Amino acid sequence: MNIVLLGAPGAGKGTQAAKLVERFGLCHISTGDILRAAVRDQTELGKKAKGYMDAGDLVPDDLIIDLMKERIQQPDTEAGVILDGFPRTTTQAVALDTMLASLDRPLNAALLIDVDPEVIVKRLTSRRMCKACGYIGTAEDGAVCPKCGGEMYQRDDDNETTVRNRLDVYATSTAPLTDYYRGKDLLVTIDGDRDSEVVFEDVKKKLNL
Ligand code: AMP
Repeated sequence: MNIVLLGAPGAGKGTQAAKLVERFGLCHISTGDILRAAVRDQTELGKKAKGYMDAGDLVPDDLIIDLMKERIQQPDTEAGVILDGFPRTTTQAVALDTMLASLDRPLNAALLIDVDPEVIVKRLTSRRMCKACGYIGTAEDGAVCPKCGGEMYQRDDDNETTVRNRLDVYATSTAPLTDYYRGKDLLVTIDGDRDSEVVFEDVKKKLNL
């Protein structure tokens, strides 16, 4: 099963992806995670991407498409992938179709996790992540990860100014993808403004899992 996760930043894509991975053993590919690792390790890609990411803008399509072409051919993707944060533009969606066709893998669904933008601003400015295991929590978790004891931190781009820009970028560049996937009869919409477990139950039901 190959799934694209759509939704604004902070809609809960990473949280739902983690649940799908845990339950169904799919391979989670998050372009944001790959880019953050590249920035941390100061690779060529990381150096090119950093400025865009700090501002909340999209990294250019050619860089992202090249990185996905390479990643989607790794052996761990054969059991199925959950794409989180890719595609984010129509150009990327068309490139993904070509990649999947060349690997002879179908896309089963584009899952839109729908959340009101003002809810997102509140969520993202209080979001905290674990440096060690990637757990996604809130400021209420404090400095220590409740899952693994690792150090919790706030992403550089989770400040209000950057969050609002990321939401604008989402509305302009990424939201049109819902029409793209609706046209292919692949769009599945989920109300993401609920407890993550309730959302996950709905995800499983709507995907017949
Ligand atoms: P995310 O973790 O998905 O919110 O991504 C964090 C940042 O990485 C975004 O604000 C963009 O700057 C960049 N990014 C991640 N995925 C993509 C993508 N598919 N296309 C362009 N930029 C991306």
